[in-house]
Amino acid sequence: MNAKQWNIRLKKGINNLKDILTGKTLITNRWKFHVLIASIASVHVLLLVIFAVFQIMPLFYFNIFSVLTYAACFWLMWGKREHYLAIYFITYIEVILHSFASTICLGWKFGFAQYIIAIVPVGFYICYTLNIRRRKFTIATLSAIFSAVAFLACKFLSFFGEPLVQIDNIALEMSLYVFNSLCAFVFLIVFSLVFVFEMKLSSNQLKHQNAILDKLASTDPLTGLYNRRSMDIFLNQAVESASNFALIMCDIDNFKNVNDTYGHDFGDVVLKGIAGITSSQVKGQGYVCRWGGEEILILLNNASKESSFRIAENIRRNVANRVFELNNKWIHCSLTLGVALYDGREPVEETITRADYNLYCGKRNGKNAVVL
Ligand code: GH3
Ligand code: MG
Ligand code: MG
Repeated sequence: MNAKQWNIRLKKGINNLKDILTGKTLITNRWKFHVLIASIASVHVLLLVIFAVFQIMPLFYFNIFSVLTYAACFWLMWGKREHYLAIYFITYIEVILHSFASTICLGWKFGFAQYIIAIVPVGFYICYTLNIRRRKFTIATLSAIFSAVAFLACKFLSFFGEPLVQIDNIALEMSLYVFNSLCAFVFLIVFSLVFVFEMKLSSNQLKHQNAILDKLASTDPLTGLYNRRSMDIFLNQAVESASNFALIMCDIDNFKNVNDTYGHDFGDVVLKGIAGITSSQVKGQGYVCRWGGEEILILLNNASKESSFRIAENIRRNVANRVFELNNKWIHCSLTLGVALYDGREPVEETITRADYNLYCGKRNGKNAVVL
Protein backbone atom coordinates (compact mmCIF):
# COMPACT_ATOMS: atom_id res chain seq x y z
CA MET A 1 0.00 0.00 0.00
CA ASN A 2 1.47 3.39 -0.95
CA ALA A 3 1.32 6.66 1.01
CA LYS A 4 -1.71 7.92 -0.92
CA GLN A 5 -3.72 4.79 -0.16
CA TRP A 6 -2.76 5.01 3.52
CA ASN A 7 -3.88 8.63 3.53
CA ILE A 8 -7.26 7.68 2.01
CA ARG A 9 -7.68 4.86 4.55
CA LEU A 10 -6.79 7.20 7.42
CA LYS A 11 -9.30 9.84 6.26
CA LYS A 12 -11.99 7.18 5.89
CA GLY A 13 -11.21 5.92 9.38
CA ILE A 14 -11.42 9.43 10.87
CA ASN A 15 -14.76 10.03 9.10
CA ASN A 16 -16.11 6.70 10.40
CA LEU A 17 -15.04 7.63 13.92
CA LYS A 18 -16.73 11.05 13.60
CA ASP A 19 -19.96 9.39 12.41
CA ILE A 20 -19.89 6.98 15.34
CA LEU A 21 -19.21 9.70 17.91
CA THR A 22 -21.91 11.98 16.52
CA GLY A 23 -24.40 9.11 16.55
CA LYS A 24 -24.91 9.15 12.78
CA THR A 25 -24.08 5.53 12.38
CA LEU A 26 -23.96 2.31 14.30
CA ILE A 27 -20.49 0.94 14.96
CA THR A 28 -19.78 -1.54 12.19
CA ASN A 29 -18.69 -5.08 13.07
CA ARG A 30 -15.43 -4.45 11.26
CA TRP A 31 -14.70 -1.51 13.55
CA LYS A 32 -15.69 -3.37 16.68
CA PHE A 33 -13.45 -6.32 15.89
CA HIS A 34 -10.49 -4.22 14.82
CA VAL A 35 -10.63 -2.32 18.13
CA LEU A 36 -11.17 -5.50 20.15
CA ILE A 37 -8.32 -7.42 18.53
CA ALA A 38 -5.96 -4.45 18.49
CA SER A 39 -6.50 -3.77 22.20
CA ILE A 40 -6.09 -7.41 23.27
CA ALA A 41 -3.02 -7.75 21.05
CA SER A 42 -1.46 -4.62 22.58
CA VAL A 43 -1.97 -6.03 26.09
CA HIS A 44 -0.15 -9.19 24.98
CA VAL A 45 2.72 -7.26 23.40
CA LEU A 46 3.16 -5.38 26.66
CA LEU A 47 3.08 -8.62 28.66
CA LEU A 48 5.57 -10.12 26.20
CA VAL A 49 8.03 -7.34 27.03
CA ILE A 50 7.45 -7.66 30.78
CA PHE A 51 7.97 -11.46 30.69
CA ALA A 52 11.13 -11.03 28.60
CA VAL A 53 12.56 -8.44 31.00
CA PHE A 54 11.83 -10.57 34.06
CA GLN A 55 12.88 -13.79 32.34
CA ILE A 56 9.55 -15.57 32.82
CA MET A 57 10.20 -17.71 29.76
CA PRO A 58 7.14 -20.05 29.65
CA LEU A 59 4.82 -17.05 29.61
CA PHE A 60 7.09 -15.20 27.20
CA TYR A 61 6.65 -18.07 24.70
CA PHE A 62 2.95 -18.30 25.40
CA ASN A 63 2.55 -14.59 24.63
CA ILE A 64 4.36 -15.03 21.31
CA PHE A 65 1.70 -17.63 20.54
CA SER A 66 -1.00 -15.16 21.69
CA VAL A 67 0.29 -12.32 19.52
CA LEU A 68 0.43 -14.70 16.52
CA THR A 69 -3.14 -15.78 17.29
CA TYR A 70 -4.35 -12.18 17.10
CA ALA A 71 -2.36 -11.63 13.93
CA ALA A 72 -4.35 -14.58 12.53
CA CYS A 73 -7.55 -12.87 13.70
CA PHE A 74 -6.60 -9.75 11.75
CA TRP A 75 -5.98 -11.98 8.75
CA LEU A 76 -9.51 -13.37 9.18
CA MET A 77 -10.82 -9.81 8.75
CA TRP A 78 -8.54 -8.82 5.89
CA GLY A 79 -10.16 -7.58 2.67
CA LYS A 80 -13.76 -8.64 2.42
CA ARG A 81 -13.45 -11.49 4.92
CA GLU A 82 -15.78 -11.36 7.93
CA HIS A 83 -15.29 -14.47 10.06
CA TYR A 84 -16.43 -12.71 13.21
CA LEU A 85 -17.84 -15.66 15.09
CA ALA A 86 -14.63 -17.62 14.46
CA ILE A 87 -12.62 -14.62 15.72
CA TYR A 88 -14.74 -14.45 18.86
CA PHE A 89 -14.17 -18.15 19.61
CA ILE A 90 -10.42 -17.87 18.97
CA THR A 91 -10.23 -14.84 21.29
CA TYR A 92 -12.30 -16.61 23.91
CA ILE A 93 -10.16 -19.75 23.88
CA GLU A 94 -6.95 -17.73 23.92
CA VAL A 95 -8.09 -15.72 26.96
CA ILE A 96 -9.00 -18.88 28.87
CA LEU A 97 -5.75 -20.67 27.93
CA HIS A 98 -3.70 -17.58 28.78
CA SER A 99 -5.35 -17.32 32.21
CA PHE A 100 -4.64 -21.02 32.88
CA ALA A 101 -1.04 -20.76 31.68
CA SER A 102 -0.40 -17.64 33.79
CA THR A 103 -2.00 -19.15 36.89
CA ILE A 104 -0.03 -22.39 36.51
CA CYS A 105 3.20 -20.43 35.97
CA LEU A 106 2.85 -17.57 38.44
CA GLY A 107 -0.04 -18.50 40.72
CA TRP A 108 -3.30 -16.78 41.51
CA LYS A 109 -1.93 -13.60 43.07
CA PHE A 110 -1.01 -11.91 39.78
CA GLY A 111 -4.67 -11.58 38.82
CA PHE A 112 -4.50 -13.04 35.30
CA ALA A 113 -7.74 -14.98 35.79
CA GLN A 114 -9.66 -11.70 35.86
CA TYR A 115 -9.55 -11.65 32.07
CA ILE A 116 -11.95 -14.62 32.13
CA ILE A 117 -14.53 -12.37 33.83
CA ALA A 118 -13.85 -9.52 31.42
CA ILE A 119 -14.61 -11.72 28.40
CA VAL A 120 -18.19 -12.50 29.59
CA PRO A 121 -19.95 -9.25 28.47
CA VAL A 122 -17.94 -9.33 25.23
CA GLY A 123 -19.65 -12.64 24.40
CA PHE A 124 -23.15 -11.24 24.92
CA TYR A 125 -22.30 -8.06 23.10
CA ILE A 126 -20.86 -9.85 20.09
CA CYS A 127 -23.54 -12.53 19.85
CA TYR A 128 -26.32 -9.95 19.97
CA THR A 129 -24.81 -7.38 17.61
CA LEU A 130 -23.57 -9.82 14.98
CA ASN A 131 -26.20 -11.05 12.57
CA ILE A 132 -26.31 -14.49 14.14
CA ARG A 133 -29.80 -15.76 13.38
CA ARG A 134 -29.96 -18.77 15.66
CA ARG A 135 -28.62 -19.84 19.02
CA LYS A 136 -27.09 -16.48 19.98
CA PHE A 137 -28.57 -16.78 23.47
CA THR A 138 -27.21 -20.31 23.77
CA ILE A 139 -23.74 -19.35 22.51
CA ALA A 140 -23.42 -16.31 24.80
CA THR A 141 -24.87 -18.06 27.87
CA LEU A 142 -22.85 -21.23 27.46
CA SER A 143 -19.62 -19.26 27.04
CA ALA A 144 -20.50 -17.25 30.17
CA ILE A 145 -21.13 -20.44 32.17
CA PHE A 146 -17.94 -21.99 30.83
CA SER A 147 -16.08 -18.81 31.86
CA ALA A 148 -17.33 -19.22 35.42
CA VAL A 149 -16.19 -22.86 35.46
CA ALA A 150 -12.79 -21.91 34.00
CA PHE A 151 -12.34 -19.11 36.55
CA LEU A 152 -13.01 -21.47 39.46
CA ALA A 153 -10.81 -24.15 37.88
CA CYS A 154 -7.94 -21.63 37.80
CA LYS A 155 -8.47 -20.93 41.49
CA PHE A 156 -8.47 -24.68 42.33
CA LEU A 157 -5.31 -25.21 40.28
CA SER A 158 -3.53 -22.47 42.17
CA PHE A 159 -4.81 -23.91 45.44
CA PHE A 160 -3.53 -27.42 44.91
CA GLY A 161 -0.24 -26.80 43.11
CA GLU A 162 2.77 -24.53 43.57
CA PRO A 163 3.52 -22.03 40.74
CA LEU A 164 6.08 -23.26 38.19
CA VAL A 165 8.07 -20.04 38.38
CA GLN A 166 8.77 -18.62 41.83
CA ILE A 167 8.98 -14.83 41.90
CA ASP A 168 10.01 -12.97 45.02
CA ASN A 169 9.31 -9.54 43.67
CA ILE A 170 6.40 -7.92 45.49
CA ALA A 171 6.60 -4.80 43.28
CA LEU A 172 6.26 -6.89 40.12
CA GLU A 173 3.43 -8.93 41.63
CA MET A 174 1.59 -5.78 42.69
CA SER A 175 2.16 -3.99 39.37
CA LEU A 176 0.97 -6.94 37.32
CA TYR A 177 -2.07 -7.37 39.55
CA VAL A 178 -3.00 -3.70 39.15
CA PHE A 179 -2.30 -3.83 35.42
CA ASN A 180 -4.45 -6.94 34.92
CA SER A 181 -7.27 -5.55 37.06
CA LEU A 182 -7.25 -2.25 35.19
CA CYS A 183 -7.25 -3.97 31.78
CA ALA A 184 -10.09 -6.29 32.82
CA PHE A 185 -12.16 -3.37 34.15
CA VAL A 186 -11.50 -1.25 31.07
CA PHE A 187 -12.82 -4.13 28.92
CA LEU A 188 -15.86 -4.53 31.14
CA ILE A 189 -16.65 -0.81 31.23
CA VAL A 190 -15.98 -0.11 27.55
CA PHE A 191 -18.07 -3.04 26.33
CA SER A 192 -20.93 -2.21 28.67
CA LEU A 193 -20.86 1.43 27.54
CA VAL A 194 -20.71 0.56 23.86
CA PHE A 195 -23.56 -1.91 24.34
CA VAL A 196 -25.77 0.74 25.96
CA PHE A 197 -24.73 3.32 23.37
CA GLU A 198 -25.61 1.03 20.47
CA MET A 199 -28.93 0.04 22.05
CA LYS A 200 -29.84 3.70 22.42
CA LEU A 201 -28.77 4.49 18.88
CA SER A 202 -30.78 1.64 17.37
CA SER A 203 -33.81 2.57 19.46
CA ASN A 204 -33.51 6.15 18.12
CA GLN A 205 -33.29 4.80 14.58
CA LEU A 206 -36.35 2.68 15.22
CA LYS A 207 -38.27 5.73 16.49
CA HIS A 208 -37.23 7.69 13.42
CA GLN A 209 -38.33 4.87 11.10
CA ASN A 210 -41.63 4.56 12.96
CA ALA A 211 -42.22 8.29 12.51
CA ILE A 212 -41.63 7.90 8.75
CA LEU A 213 -43.97 4.89 8.60
CA ASP A 214 -46.59 6.80 10.61
CA LYS A 215 -46.40 9.68 8.17
CA LEU A 216 -46.63 7.35 5.18
CA ALA A 217 -49.64 5.59 6.69
CA SER A 218 -51.48 8.78 7.62
CA THR A 219 -50.92 11.09 4.65
CA ASP A 220 -51.66 11.23 0.96
CA PRO A 221 -48.46 11.06 -1.08
CA LEU A 222 -49.54 13.48 -3.85
CA THR A 223 -50.84 16.39 -1.77
CA GLY A 224 -49.21 15.73 1.60
CA LEU A 225 -52.63 16.15 3.23
CA TYR A 226 -53.97 13.65 5.76
CA ASN A 227 -55.69 10.64 4.20
CA ARG A 228 -59.19 9.45 4.88
CA ARG A 229 -58.04 6.94 7.50
CA SER A 230 -56.49 9.72 9.59
CA MET A 231 -59.55 11.92 9.14
CA ASP A 232 -61.79 9.16 10.52
CA ILE A 233 -59.63 9.19 13.68
CA PHE A 234 -59.79 13.00 13.97
CA LEU A 235 -63.56 12.96 13.45
CA ASN A 236 -64.03 10.37 16.19
CA GLN A 237 -61.80 12.36 18.54
CA ALA A 238 -63.78 15.53 17.82
CA VAL A 239 -67.09 13.77 18.54
CA GLU A 240 -65.75 12.19 21.74
CA SER A 241 -64.41 15.50 23.06
CA ALA A 242 -67.87 17.00 22.45
CA SER A 243 -66.28 20.11 20.95
CA ASN A 244 -67.92 22.56 18.56
CA PHE A 245 -66.49 21.71 15.21
CA ALA A 246 -67.36 22.42 11.60
CA LEU A 247 -66.76 20.41 8.46
CA ILE A 248 -66.01 21.97 5.09
CA MET A 249 -66.27 19.80 2.00
CA CYS A 250 -64.39 21.26 -1.00
CA ASP A 251 -64.51 20.15 -4.63
CA ILE A 252 -62.54 21.62 -7.53
CA ASP A 253 -64.79 23.06 -10.23
CA ASN A 254 -64.70 21.55 -13.71
CA PHE A 255 -61.64 19.52 -12.86
CA LYS A 256 -62.35 16.94 -15.57
CA ASN A 257 -61.96 19.77 -18.10
CA VAL A 258 -58.54 20.66 -16.64
CA ASN A 259 -57.39 17.05 -17.00
CA ASP A 260 -58.88 16.66 -20.47
CA THR A 261 -57.56 19.97 -21.81
CA TYR A 262 -54.15 20.30 -20.14
CA GLY A 263 -53.38 16.73 -19.13
CA HIS A 264 -53.36 14.77 -15.89
CA ASP A 265 -49.99 16.24 -14.82
CA PHE A 266 -51.41 19.75 -14.91
CA GLY A 267 -54.39 18.43 -12.93
CA ASP A 268 -51.96 17.18 -10.29
CA VAL A 269 -50.26 20.59 -10.11
CA VAL A 270 -53.65 22.23 -9.51
CA LEU A 271 -54.56 19.65 -6.88
CA LYS A 272 -51.27 20.17 -5.01
CA GLY A 273 -51.60 23.95 -5.24
CA ILE A 274 -55.11 23.90 -3.81
CA ALA A 275 -54.05 21.50 -1.06
CA GLY A 276 -51.28 23.97 -0.13
CA ILE A 277 -53.68 26.93 -0.02
CA THR A 278 -56.17 24.99 2.11
CA SER A 279 -53.53 23.85 4.61
CA SER A 280 -52.09 27.33 5.00
CA GLN A 281 -55.53 28.85 5.64
CA VAL A 282 -56.49 26.21 8.22
CA LYS A 283 -53.04 26.02 9.85
CA GLY A 284 -53.39 25.12 13.55
CA GLN A 285 -57.18 25.43 13.63
CA GLY A 286 -58.00 21.90 12.46
CA TYR A 287 -57.18 19.14 10.01
CA VAL A 288 -57.25 18.98 6.21
CA CYS A 289 -57.64 15.67 4.41
CA ARG A 290 -57.89 14.42 0.86
CA TRP A 291 -61.32 12.86 1.12
CA GLY A 292 -61.66 11.57 -2.42
CA GLY A 293 -60.17 12.16 -5.89
CA GLU A 294 -60.27 15.97 -5.92
CA GLU A 295 -62.38 16.46 -2.83
CA ILE A 296 -60.89 17.92 0.32
CA LEU A 297 -62.53 17.68 3.74
CA ILE A 298 -61.63 20.18 6.45
CA LEU A 299 -62.32 19.72 10.16
CA LEU A 300 -62.28 23.03 12.03
CA ASN A 301 -61.99 22.82 15.81
CA ASN A 302 -63.84 25.26 18.08
CA ALA A 303 -65.59 26.68 15.06
CA SER A 304 -68.57 29.00 14.87
CA LYS A 305 -70.73 29.80 11.87
CA GLU A 306 -68.81 33.02 11.31
CA SER A 307 -65.28 31.63 11.73
CA SER A 308 -65.89 28.61 9.52
CA PHE A 309 -67.52 30.73 6.83
CA ARG A 310 -64.63 33.19 6.97
CA ILE A 311 -62.02 30.47 6.58
CA ALA A 312 -63.97 28.80 3.74
CA GLU A 313 -64.33 32.13 1.98
CA ASN A 314 -60.60 32.87 2.36
CA ILE A 315 -59.79 29.50 0.79
CA ARG A 316 -62.21 30.09 -2.09
CA ARG A 317 -60.82 33.58 -2.78
CA ASN A 318 -57.18 32.46 -2.61
CA VAL A 319 -57.84 29.60 -5.05
CA ALA A 320 -59.76 31.89 -7.45
CA ASN A 321 -56.91 34.42 -7.41
CA ARG A 322 -54.14 31.86 -7.91
CA VAL A 323 -52.64 31.26 -11.35
CA PHE A 324 -51.54 27.62 -11.79
CA GLU A 325 -48.60 27.03 -14.10
CA LEU A 326 -46.99 24.06 -15.83
CA ASN A 327 -44.67 24.12 -18.84
CA ASN A 328 -45.46 27.76 -19.65
CA LYS A 329 -49.21 27.25 -19.54
CA TRP A 330 -51.25 29.25 -17.07
CA ILE A 331 -54.80 28.65 -15.91
CA HIS A 332 -57.26 29.78 -13.28
CA CYS A 333 -59.33 27.35 -11.25
CA SER A 334 -62.07 27.64 -8.68
CA LEU A 335 -63.36 25.73 -5.71
CA THR A 336 -66.84 25.19 -4.31
CA LEU A 337 -67.16 24.64 -0.56
CA GLY A 338 -70.02 23.28 1.55
CA VAL A 339 -69.91 24.08 5.29
CA ALA A 340 -71.79 22.26 8.07
CA LEU A 341 -71.57 22.67 11.86
CA TYR A 342 -71.71 19.61 14.07
CA ASP A 343 -74.85 19.89 16.19
CA GLY A 344 -73.54 17.90 19.16
CA ARG A 345 -76.00 14.99 18.80
CA GLU A 346 -76.08 13.62 15.26
CA PRO A 347 -73.72 10.92 13.99
CA VAL A 348 -70.77 12.63 12.32
CA GLU A 349 -71.72 10.99 8.99
CA GLU A 350 -74.82 13.20 9.10
CA THR A 351 -72.66 16.34 9.34
CA ILE A 352 -70.59 15.13 6.39
CA THR A 353 -73.79 14.57 4.38
CA ARG A 354 -74.96 18.11 5.19
CA ALA A 355 -71.59 19.57 4.13
CA ASP A 356 -71.83 17.50 0.95
CA TYR A 357 -75.35 18.73 0.32
CA ASN A 358 -74.26 22.37 0.73
CA LEU A 359 -71.42 21.69 -1.70
CA TYR A 360 -73.94 20.25 -4.16
CA CYS A 361 -76.08 23.40 -3.78
CA GLY A 362 -73.02 25.54 -4.51
CA LYS A 363 -72.27 23.52 -7.64
CA ARG A 364 -75.86 23.80 -8.84
CA ASN A 365 -75.91 27.57 -8.28
CA GLY A 366 -72.91 28.33 -10.49
CA LYS A 367 -69.83 26.98 -8.50
CA ASN A 368 -66.93 29.05 -7.06
CA ALA A 369 -68.97 29.61 -3.91
CA VAL A 370 -69.22 28.90 -0.18
CA VAL A 371 -72.57 27.53 1.03
CA LEU A 372 -73.36 27.23 4.73
P1 GH3 B 1 -67.60 19.69 -10.92
O1 GH3 B 1 -67.32 21.12 -11.13
O2 GH3 B 1 -69.03 19.37 -10.92
O3 GH3 B 1 -66.94 19.16 -9.71
O4 GH3 B 1 -66.98 18.95 -12.19
P2 GH3 B 1 -65.70 18.10 -12.21
O5 GH3 B 1 -65.26 18.03 -13.61
O6 GH3 B 1 -64.70 18.58 -11.24
O7 GH3 B 1 -66.27 16.70 -11.80
P3 GH3 B 1 -65.79 15.79 -10.66
O8 GH3 B 1 -65.68 16.53 -9.40
O9 GH3 B 1 -66.66 14.59 -10.65
O10 GH3 B 1 -64.36 15.42 -11.20
C1 GH3 B 1 -63.57 14.47 -10.68
C2 GH3 B 1 -62.34 14.38 -11.54
O11 GH3 B 1 -61.19 14.52 -10.77
C3 GH3 B 1 -62.25 13.05 -12.23
C4 GH3 B 1 -60.80 12.68 -12.14
O12 GH3 B 1 -60.25 12.61 -13.43
C5 GH3 B 1 -60.16 13.84 -11.43
N1 GH3 B 1 -59.18 13.38 -10.46
C6 GH3 B 1 -59.42 12.69 -9.35
N2 GH3 B 1 -58.25 12.45 -8.69
C7 GH3 B 1 -57.28 13.04 -9.43
C8 GH3 B 1 -55.85 13.14 -9.28
O13 GH3 B 1 -55.24 12.66 -8.33
N3 GH3 B 1 -55.17 13.82 -10.23
C9 GH3 B 1 -55.81 14.37 -11.29
N4 GH3 B 1 -55.09 15.04 -12.18
N5 GH3 B 1 -57.13 14.26 -11.46
C10 GH3 B 1 -57.86 13.61 -10.56
MG1 MG C 1 -65.51 15.63 -7.37
MG1 MG D 1 -65.03 18.65 -9.17
